[in-house]
Amino acid sequence: MAIFQGKPNLGVMVSNYIPAAGEVPSLHFDKNGYYETKNPFMIKRLRRKFKEVAAREPQGLNAPTPPATGLTCKKCGASGFANNGFLLAHTRKFHPKVEVK
Ligand SMILES: [Zn+2]
Repeated sequence: MAIFQGKPNLGVMVSNYIPAAGEVPSLHFDKNGYYETKNPFMIKRLRRKFKEVAAREPQGLNAPTPPATGLTCKKCGASGFANNGFLLAHTRKFHPKVEVK
């Protein structure tokens, strides 16, 4: 399995590619600009032209990428808070208590 990073919705034709049954000799990067393949031929060809990435990066987050482990916010599901302090800071920032008077 390999994941390549290109441009969102970028279509790529791979010459001399003999597709397996049910496959087409073209590919499209998804809307986030990623393309995933298990096909060794494609991996070899794509490595010449595109950047291979280890994993998908989360989209739509301006915050630094949190690690996969850690505490999880119960309100929105954001995860990767190293300790309660970070989780509390997140809660204060994104889920402020509404005061009803
Ligand atoms: Zn949250």
